[in-house]
Amino acid sequence: MGQKLLGSLKNGIVFVLSAPAGTGKTTLVRMLTEEFPSVVESISYTTRKMRPNEIEGRDYHFIGRSEFEKRVRQGDFLEHAEVFGELYGTSKSAVEFQQQAGKHVVLVIDTQGAMQLMGRMDGVFIFLSPPDIQELKRRLSKRKSESPDKIEERLSWAKKEMETSDRYDYQIINDDLETAYAILRAVLIAEEHRTRQRKKLI
Ligand code: ADP
Ligand code: 5GP
Repeated sequence: MGQKLLGSLKNGIVFVLSAPAGTGKTTLVRMLTEEFPSVVESISYTTRKMRPNEIEGRDYHFIGRSEFEKRVRQGDFLEHAEVFGELYGTSKSAVEFQQQAGKHVVLVIDTQGAMQLMGRMDGVFIFLSPPDIQELKRRLSKRKSESPDKIEERLSWAKKEMETSDRYDYQIINDDLETAYAILRAVLIAEEHRTRQRKKLI
């Protein structure tokens, strides 16, 4: 589908982005999809309830647990995981469809899901870190989607997720937003120009 934006690539690249909740991944991925028409975000399936500012099909596909489990049995997911008591999964067919249409696909998934894909899929793995835990707490509070006890739960899980950051290809610290974005877009551009024989897959 020889699209200019992809250089010599035939298919789009998969970018896997993990970050503790509240770090700024939604903000940064939105900046990337706005600047680059060749980048799309994968819309995950989840059993969690929709938040007031969310839209079905834009933020997630919101489905029930039995529907989710049926999709797991059918092998519909590239990866899936339970996060804070809810199930989340990435649609294999949607990702493949986008890649074949010449789009880069960003999977915004947790560290459990990312580790299921490492070594199994030719993707670029990026870990986004908050500058520190206090700032993460401030951002989570600002988002106003969690009660104070949920914030504490998310902070303690964040510390565990941050321990896995050195298994990723890149680590970006989201302190100043413009700086973090400059690094993220530099990674995208560099990866578009990589000769892609790097990864040995299992
Ligand atoms: P996530 O998707 O990782 O949970 P969001 O993108 O929703 O995080 O960001 C959480 C909050 O932090 C939002 O209010 C967002 O505007 C803010 N935020 C994101 N990046 C920064 C930054 N670099 N500095 C200050 N605030 C930020
Ligand atoms: P939230 O409910 O706050 O949108 O997301 C909670 C966590 O679930 C985040 O860490 C987010 O990255 C992760 N997540 C969202 N979609 C998926 C998915 O499809 N797979 C996995 N493994 N995690 C996901």
